Amino acid sequence: MLKLISVTATATALSCFGCHSLYHSLNTKVECEIKEKNLTSNKKLDLNETCHKVAIIGSGIGGCSAAYFLRKLMPNVKIDVYEKSHIVGGRLSIVKVGDHEFEAGGSIIHNKNQYVVNFMKETGLQPNVKPEKNFGIYNNEHFVFVESGVKIYNFLKLLWRYGPYTLYKMNLVVNETLKQFDNIYSLQDYQKAYRTVEELLVDIGGEKILQYTKETLANVMLKEGVSKKLIDELITAAIRVNYGQNTNINAFAGLVALAGIQGDSLFSIKGGNYQICKNLLSISYVNLMLDQEISSIQKCYDNSTKKVYYNLEFNNDERSKVNYDCVIIAAPLEAPKCILKCNNCLNWPSTQGSFKQIFATFVQGCLKYDTFNCKSENEVPSFILTTENLKLKYTSIGVQTDVYGIMPEKKIYKLFSHYKLNDDDLKSCFHLDNSLTPKPVVEWYAYPAYNVPEVFAPFKLDDGVFYVNAIERAASAMEMSAIGGRNAAILSYQYLEK
Ligand SMILES: Cc1cc2nc3c(=O)[nH]c(=O)nc-3n(C[C@H](O)[C@H](O)[C@H](O)COP(=O)(O)OP(=O)(O)OC[C@H]3O[C@@H](n4cnc5c(N)ncnc54)[C@H](O)[C@@H]3O)c2cc1C
Repeated sequence: MLKLISVTATATALSCFGCHSLYHSLNTKVECEIKEKNLTSNKKLDLNETCHKVAIIGSGIGGCSAAYFLRKLMPNVKIDVYEKSHIVGGRLSIVKVGDHEFEAGGSIIHNKNQYVVNFMKETGLQPNVKPEKNFGIYNNEHFVFVESGVKIYNFLKLLWRYGPYTLYKMNLVVNETLKQFDNIYSLQDYQKAYRTVEELLVDIGGEKILQYTKETLANVMLKEGVSKKLIDELITAAIRVNYGQNTNINAFAGLVALAGIQGDSLFSIKGGNYQICKNLLSISYVNLMLDQEISSIQKCYDNSTKKVYYNLEFNNDERSKVNYDCVIIAAPLEAPKCILKCNNCLNWPSTQGSFKQIFATFVQGCLKYDTFNCKSENEVPSFILTTENLKLKYTSIGVQTDVYGIMPEKKIYKLFSHYKLNDDDLKSCFHLDNSLTPKPVVEWYAYPAYNVPEVFAPFKLDDGVFYVNAIERAASAMEMSAIGGRNAAILSYQYLEK
């Protein structure tokens, strides 16, 4: 019953761009055959028709979602996607360990994530249903709770440890928030777009939801009648594995992370989640430009047409600038390595929040069961979650199946930690077989470091510049970026069509 989820020339020349124009470092050939609304039936682009030109910066799921929804709204728009890396996907990426590939970034999709589920179906991908794993909550001395494989027994164990009232209260607040959050889908279907995160949150659930971004999860839970024990154990464990943080994060982000507790179907994409991005770009007929880091956006005005346009500049590259009618930023501006600037955008965010650094370490070896106060390896849960304890070097340890759902013959574990783990750290938990494989470490600027009251960057940074990742300060997840992407697409459409 209990599962945890982890929960982007001149204006005159611009408007005349034909579909056969060549662009810098074109990685994907521009196709003039585009698909209408449902992106399934082909239609020839009317070359006499004016093409608006939109740039999307970032090819993670936020940028790809923006491209997909913009193409649905504007069959004739020209979309150029710029990605600084040599691959698409951003925080969705895989890592090879021995003969197997594993998710290294965003991994778990919940069946209620309507956009991501739909992206999977529409782009012909298959789910990789996660095998049943039992989790345990470890406090650096012993497991305070271990999930049982038998549902009813597990339910009774939870009741016994935490009591029915507090579990009921926790579920109630999570479910109510989820239900309100679902409003976003119909609002976006009616092409409702938001200039700020605050407007979006209030529209889906009133002032209460906005208030959740101003209070800590622990405070909200206590006020709702949830016990401290449940907060310190189960809820803390879920926040540590999802966001590498504690229950002082904003309550909205915390509730999004906890939503998976009631999850009955968690999955990832067969072959790797990054494929969603690759496939979305393909069905959205974009020009994808890899290895292109945008360093600045300049707002310009064409006196002859009386139109605003935007000039993109490339990092370490003196080539001529490229102009657009509209720009979608689908990368977190507050992440430490982001160099993107705009000097004359009206609402460019001045406050830089901080981003949480997370290390994902992959280890092949046998767990030292006695370290966890267990009598045998079988007694150790396959997914070790943790309570807040400064002595613990990791936030979670989980046995991994690969991107095709195959469990390697010799078990591979993924550890999340705040610091790079050294061999001694690993040897305290594992009998390491160094002859086997290297121990890949993937370093992430993973999610915003949440800090109440949250201060949000706007979605609308200028007349024609829209920001997907403003939504991440409320909560970070694939589905959140997909929602931010659709919002940016609708804002772009409304701006270009006015
Ligand atoms: C370890 C980890 C585990 C996670 N687990 C889950 C999970 O289980 N479930 C879930 O739903 N979410 C999870 N997440 C969160 C999820 O992965 C992210 O919220 C989501 O992928 C963010 O997508 P995005 O497109 O908004 O940003 P990103 O994926 O970061 O994409 C931004 C892109 O922009 C590019 N870029 C940046 N600057 C520039 C520039 N100047 N010019 C050109 N390109 C640029 C970057 O290279 C990147 O490709 C996890 C994240 C991490 C790190």
